Amino acid sequence: MSRFFTKRLEGLAPYVPGEQPKIDGLVKLNTNENPYDPCGAVRDAGLDENLKCYPDPECGLLVDAIRTHYRLPAGTVMVGNGSDELLGFAFLAYGGPDNKMVFPQISYGFYPVFGQVFQTAFREIPLKGDLSIDPAEYRDAEGTIIIANPNAPTGIALSRKEMESILQSNPDRLVIVDEAYVDFGGESCIPLIDEYDNLLVIQTFSKSRSLAGCRVGFAVSNREIIGDLNRIKYSFNPYNLDRLAIKIATEAILDVEYFEGTRQKIIATREWLFREMTDRGFVVTPSKANFLFTKPPQVDGRTYFQRLREKGILVRHFDKPEIEQFVRITIGTREDMAKLLKATDEILKESAEGEPHENL
Ligand SMILES: *Cc1c(COP(=O)(O)O)cnc(C)c1O
Repeated sequence: MSRFFTKRLEGLAPYVPGEQPKIDGLVKLNTNENPYDPCGAVRDAGLDENLKCYPDPECGLLVDAIRTHYRLPAGTVMVGNGSDELLGFAFLAYGGPDNKMVFPQISYGFYPVFGQVFQTAFREIPLKGDLSIDPAEYRDAEGTIIIANPNAPTGIALSRKEMESILQSNPDRLVIVDEAYVDFGGESCIPLIDEYDNLLVIQTFSKSRSLAGCRVGFAVSNREIIGDLNRIKYSFNPYNLDRLAIKIATEAILDVEYFEGTRQKIIATREWLFREMTDRGFVVTPSKANFLFTKPPQVDGRTYFQRLREKGILVRHFDKPEIEQFVRITIGTREDMAKLLKATDEILKESAEGEPHENL
């Protein structure tokens, strides 16, 4: 840290992204990317773009495509440079020293970091014993609520009815629903936008639309809330999406058939892997996301993570005490999952036989 860095942020502990390894041949199941390429039309989409000119600050082409897809009226959608940017805008708009955020104790690791960097106090609400969120715990919350639904890294989803109960019990609080994984089997709150003026839904193109490398997310709410977020955006980074991202993401949302195909494949692979792992004695949460959250038998979470890594398979392990026995495994292709199971069987066999170094 230089001597010029603001004292206010001296204690800042930044978000640690999952590893993006430069090693060839690794089976990469650690950051919830989609194993399938984006739809064919995105490949050529950027080639003729007029890159010497600034992009449309309103990103009208993409916003209109999203509105058409979800049948939403004008003024109710905006896009961000990844949904992380929109979450950041929301912390700026609704956080700060006079406000508080409320979110689950086990959830997306970025929320507490945003809390620190935007000087917003936050309260973390513990999960239930089965790692699910208890909607009753959010009744009359002390501040703006943020819920990832399905939650990360558990994959467990609340139903739309349960989300409604949180909205109803907080009529004077904003409820932000982070739906990064909703396309893999959750129930979106987008249809509730008309009914609840305290609802902000945020989604991303990174997971279900295979565009993690493109950085596009979107927010859906009423005109006032979208107006707030635009106020922040135009005070910070008006041209927040580049021309290529606008064009590419528009192609991705138009190709409904491709989206349906890949998303169904991932759901089917997840359900199959769920059974395979449960049969091997793993505890697996009922995930509605493109990953499984699972506790291995015989070995602890960290050991399982490390042994997989030695065998060229990268998954994610979190050090938080409540979940340190678990690992999060991104759903890849069927072939990726077969490699994972083969490596897993070897690890379980090795541990049953006693670890090699213990026999020396
Ligand atoms: C991946 C993820 C995001 C961020 O997505 P980007 O659009 O790539 O910034 C936000 N929230 C949750 C819960 C996520 O898992």
